[in-house]
Amino acid sequence: MKNFLNPNQCRYLASLICVLGAIFAFISKIKFGMNSIHPTFIIGILIIIAGFVFGFIKARCPHCNCLLSFSTKGDPKHYPNCGGKLEDDD
Ligand SMILES: [Zn+2]
Repeated sequence: MKNFLNPNQCRYLASLICVLGAIFAFISKIKFGMNSIHPTFIIGILIIIAGFVFGFIKARCPHCNCLLSFSTKGDPKHYPNCGGKLEDDD
């Protein structure tokens, strides 16, 4: 199966999904109060979990299959774990 995003892009997308989930949960807490757990808060948490699962599955090095760090800053030219080149064209 051909990936439409390279692992580094998947890493960014996974981070984005987690942030969106956090925003969702945060808005829920503002809107419905800190002491109640509203279904929208649960949905926000589920979005965060989905982001982590997506990153865990997709954000992997194609050379050694190791998991890429979500927290790596910038746009590295090589995978940090094995030093394999990070290709943009697949
Ligand atoms: Zn690797």
